[in-house]
Formats: sequence, structure tokens, C-alpha cells
Amino acid sequence: MSIVVQKFGGTSVADARKIHLAARRAIRAKMEGNQVVLVVSAMGHTTDELVRLAYEITDRPSKRELDMLLSTGEQVSIALMAMAIQEGGYEAISLTGAQIGMLTDSAFTRARIRSIDAGRLHDQLRRGRIVIVAGFQGVDADFNITTLGRGGSDTTAVALAAALQARMCEVYTDVDGVYTTDPRLVPQARKIDTISYDEMLELASLGAGVMHSRSIEFGKKFNVIIHVRSSLTDSPGTMIMSQPPGMEDVVVRGCTLKRDIGRITLVNAANRPGLVARIFEEIAARQLMVDDIIQNVAAGGDVVQLAFTVAGDDLREARLAAEAVGRQFDVAQIEVDDQLSRVSIVGVGMRSHAGVAARLFSTLAAENIRVHNVSTSEIVISVLVGSADGERALRAVHAAFELDREPAAT
Ligand code: ADP
Ligand code: ASP
Ligand code: MG
Repeated sequence: MSIVVQKFGGTSVADARKIHLAARRAIRAKMEGNQVVLVVSAMGHTTDELVRLAYEITDRPSKRELDMLLSTGEQVSIALMAMAIQEGGYEAISLTGAQIGMLTDSAFTRARIRSIDAGRLHDQLRRGRIVIVAGFQGVDADFNITTLGRGGSDTTAVALAAALQARMCEVYTDVDGVYTTDPRLVPQARKIDTISYDEMLELASLGAGVMHSRSIEFGKKFNVIIHVRSSLTDSPGTMIMSQPPGMEDVVVRGCTLKRDIGRITLVNAANRPGLVARIFEEIAARQLMVDDIIQNVAAGGDVVQLAFTVAGDDLREARLAAEAVGRQFDVAQIEVDDQLSRVSIVGVGMRSHAGVAARLFSTLAAENIRVHNVSTSEIVISVLVGSADGERALRAVHAAFELDREPAAT
């Protein structure tokens, strides 16, 4: 019997009616002869509300306690979902992350999955039950509750699909698929029918909030086909899968805007061996993630300007890291810029097409938008722009690469 994993995001379980709708979908999959595992998020804006409450108590909540708090949202929805399925006449059981042996590391608020005890789930499925698992949460080796980072229920779902060797992981959300960019920002955005793991991974990491980027890493590693679709209709959504032939014909598949980027610059540091190493040791010790690293050497190589960017949430901690190193390397000044956004274009077709960067830069120039930094990889070009220019840059880039049009058939 094949196993299907269905994941329902916050808006898809926002009230009793929506929970019943989702339950009906799960029952339908069960009636079609599948073993069904559901992964659910917290209802509506519950997680945001819990975060807000924590910050009402303190400016610096302990990350362990944040995870304890945030994980409660999902526990509410799994119990309600199990009741809805039972009400529909089917057997169901809700399980928390700990109860399915979702073992993670101890990086609170951004934990990574280490292993899952699939035996427990198989056992419940064999008994004919629909199993409902709390998304976004796990437990570390010391039984502390952890969470996987905002949006992490997608990762729970795909990781479960991999562990159970499910036929498919269906992700039900409030859009009918993955679009060329966030349709809330660019109304001309177009739904993509099929996208490769590599492209989706980049889009997700660079700001396409529709999928948690770790979920795509799991999908790619274990070859789980992910179907992103609307919880309100039956129309097909977007298939995320290995790269089908012909995919490189599309130069740019999509574009993203990531807001709230912070940049820290160590002005005039002594260019002694170990500077960069020390900075990144400090950053790593605080479990922060760095995006761009920008280094310029002046004064014949003796003095260096070293800048790096982090997510705005990490800016305060990153500054502490920079200050710790600054004292050792005679840094004249530490500058902090919190008014930046990153616009990126992504496409496997970039590997085989020239002139993509030129078109990106001339588009921004025509809009009179200043570029603060450029970074590239094989299938991505990113630019840092001022926060105030972010949305305008995204719209201009979307139009310039004709993402609002159906890709030409080849
Ligand atoms: P869920 O609660 O179901 O997990 P999310 O809010 O996390 O839903 O993700 C869905 C939202 O992602 C959409 O409403 C949309 O505004 C946003 N989004 C951002 N980028 C994209 C994109 N490229 N394609 C589709 N949706 C996107
Ligand atoms: N409830 C969590 C969040 O809002 C996890 C998720 O929805 O995927 O981030
Ligand atoms: Mg989400």
C-alpha cells in the first residue's frame, strides 16, 4: 500500500471549517487506498502571536523557552485535526515530534533533523489509522523540545515522506503553486508547473517563503516528489522534482526579494592572518548564518575593509561578534547598516546562456537603483539594494526577464 504525506499550512487550518476541509482531503486519500500521514502547522497566525507574547515578557527570550512556547501551536492543531477525522468516521491519532522520535540537534529555533523513528509511524499506519504529526518540532538528545525554524513544517513533511518512502509529499497552502515570484508583491507572477530541486532550493533560501529551504534539501537527497498546491481547489499545483530534460531552456525560472538584511563592516582592520577566520569563529560560536562576505584590501594590503551580511534578526548578535574581533585587529570603526534588501534571479538555464548579469544590471540602472553588492553562483545572481528600492527592483527584474510570460516552447 502506498503512503501519502499531506502537509497543511497555517492558513489551511486557520479555523474549524478549514480543519474539516483538510480532514476530508485526508479521508479521501485514505479511501483511495493510501496510508495517510498528515503534517499540520499551527492555526493561522498562532506562531506569530506566541512570538509576540514572548517579546512582551522580555527583549531576549531564551531560545530553549521560545521553542517550548512555539511548539504548542502545532499541538493544538494536531489534536483538532484528529478529532475532525474521527468525526468523519475514520480512525486517527495525533503525535508530537517527540512521540515520533523526531530527533534533532540542539540548535534551538533552527534545529536540524537527525533521525526519525519510522517504526512508530508504520505501526500506526498498519492499524489503519490516519496519523497526524505536529510540524516544525522535534526533540534533542536531552529531550528538550526544539523547532526547525519558521516555516519548518514543510521540512517535517518532506523528511517524513523520505523516512517512510512515501509516493508523494503534498503541500497544501494558500497559493495554488510556486510562482515566478511572490504573487503578493508582483501580481503578474505566473504559476510554475515543474521546477527542479536545485532551482527551488535557491528560490526558497533567497526568500520565496512558500517552501522552507531545508525541505527541498531533503526532497533532493531522497528524491521525494513534492506537489505544492492549493488547499481550496483540486487543480494541479507545482511539481518539485529532479531536473527534467529541456529545463535549461528557461534562463531565469524565478526571482526573489529578501528584506531585512543587515550588513556589518569592519572599517580599516589590520590585515593580519587570521582576521577572517576569527570573525567566522565568533559567528559560528553564536550559530549565526552569514550570506555575503565582502573584502577590499587597501594601503598595499596592510589594511582591509571586511563586510558581511546577516538576516536582520541576527544583526545584534553579529555586531557583538564583530566587536569581539575588532579589538584584536585594531579595527577603526564598525559600521552597521540595517536598511538593505536582496533581489535575486534563479535559473539552471544561466549555466548555458550569456548576458544574464548584463540584463539584470541594466534593468536596475534604468530604474536608477543603486547596487550595494553583487554575489553569484552557478544558477543565481543576487544584488543588495536599499530597502526602499527592493520591491521596485523585484518588479522591474520580473518584467525584464519576461517571467510573466509562458516560457517559449522548444
Ligand atoms: P503556509 O502557511 O501554507 O506554510 P506560507 O505563508 O508559508 O504558507 O507560504 C505561502 C505564501 O508564500 C504565499 O501566500 C505567498 O505570498 C508566499 N510566496 C512567496 N514567494 C512565493 C512564490 N515564489 N510562489 C508562491 N508563493 C510565494
Ligand atoms: N507554525 C510554524 C511557523 O509559523 C511552522 C510552519 O508554519 O511551518 O513558522
Ligand atoms: Mg509555510
